[in-house]
Amino acid sequence: MSTKDYLEKDYYAVLGVPKTATAEEIKRAYRKLARRYHPDANQGNKETEAKFKEVSEAYDVLSDAKRRKEYDEARSLFGSGLGGYTGGGSSRGGFPFDFGDLFGGTGTQGGAGERIGDLFGGLFNRGGGRTRPRRGQDIESEVTLSFTEAARGATVSLRLTSSSACAACSGTGARTGTTPRVCPTCEGTGAASRNLGSFAFSEPCRDCKGRGLIVDDPCPVCDGSGRGKSTRTIQARIPAGVGDGQRIRLKGKGAPGENGGPAGDLYVQVHVKPHPVFGRSGENLTITVPVTFAEAALGAQIKVPTLNGMPVTVRIPEGTPNGRTFRVRGRGITRKDGTKGDLLVTVEVIVPQRLDEKARGLLTEFRDLTAGEDPRAELIQRARSE
Ligand SMILES: [Zn+2]
Ligand SMILES: [Zn+2]
Repeated sequence: MSTKDYLEKDYYAVLGVPKTATAEEIKRAYRKLARRYHPDANQGNKETEAKFKEVSEAYDVLSDAKRRKEYDEARSLFGSGLGGYTGGGSSRGGFPFDFGDLFGGTGTQGGAGERIGDLFGGLFNRGGGRTRPRRGQDIESEVTLSFTEAARGATVSLRLTSSSACAACSGTGARTGTTPRVCPTCEGTGAASRNLGSFAFSEPCRDCKGRGLIVDDPCPVCDGSGRGKSTRTIQARIPAGVGDGQRIRLKGKGAPGENGGPAGDLYVQVHVKPHPVFGRSGENLTITVPVTFAEAALGAQIKVPTLNGMPVTVRIPEGTPNGRTFRVRGRGITRKDGTKGDLLVTVEVIVPQRLDEKARGLLTEFRDLTAGEDPRAELIQRARSE
């Protein structure tokens, strides 16, 4: 509320009370009018909506003893009824306020065109000043890599969509050749304050949906929103060793900055498809390799596949138990410094599913030879001792 508002508006008349009204009388008058003009009771009725706003504004001031005093003083100082008041904006081009005041401009007193240019500058950069560099938006993206790509690192194409000003209307939302007008309800602020008894709250203006502008002839490209989508494809290098679910930040690959500001960052959510054979444990690769009972018992040299190249030979010592893990150095995931993790080989002793006559005979002989060793003896002992 400015002094100008105070001088232009007769809040007592709006509430229908005398200047000498008590706080109680003001409250009563307001409640009666608020009920009558409340938007909920008058769905979509612009006239009552404007009335409601007017009444709320009047009550805002008159219900606050300090503001009421200021109001009374301002009016007695300058005289009520604003016939000769020329400092305000209400006579200029139909806009009920001074652009310079509202947007912190340079006190524009120039032609209407100039002021309108100013106005848009202000509205579309609200709060940020017109020429202050602004950092571009951060953009989120995601990518799915194969297991091998994730392990080796990959260059991927990412299609990025960011919102920007609609190219057809330069972000005004109005059809080319037309201009939006300032919303008369909120006078371009985009906010409406509602005062319901002792509760006052601010909400986006209903008439302009918080934009502060009304577009009579909307831009057909963006449907009047003024926002457009821009899509571009970039190549992004995903570093080696990235894991499933990891979020990678690519600095400066987000939306371009405005007024010389830096670009935003690009965040890439990485999904890694599982490998049919290999697993990951940090920077190590894991693999489970079947070995026969004989290999485990007697020891063996076994061939184990690697992710990037020829199989490696792993020596299984005599008497290797099921589930033992062997480490093959340098066959894992490449680290940031270029060194590599290891390949962890876990053996799984398999049982032959079919035996020929001779093998069966030899195995039976083996069983009889080792009959003296009961592998469950200790287990039974421990079960009893509990
Ligand atoms: Zn509005
Ligand atoms: Zn447009």
